[in-house]
Amino acid sequence: MSEVTPSRVKCPKCGSIDVKQTEDKSKVLSYAGGQPIYKKIWKCKKCGETWG
Ligand SMILES: [Zn+2]
Repeated sequence: MSEVTPSRVKCPKCGSIDVKQTEDKSKVLSYAGGQPIYKKIWKCKKCGETWG
């Protein structure tokens, strides 16, 4: 599985490439050493849309 670079991702809503990868704190995938691993999501810095 290859890594997705931010420049290859764009917002599905407005088409902006000004997006960042963040964590969905409401979705815990698992725990590692007592620390929660959150689901990675993308967020558009332009319109605020999140997806992933
Ligand atoms: Zn957007």
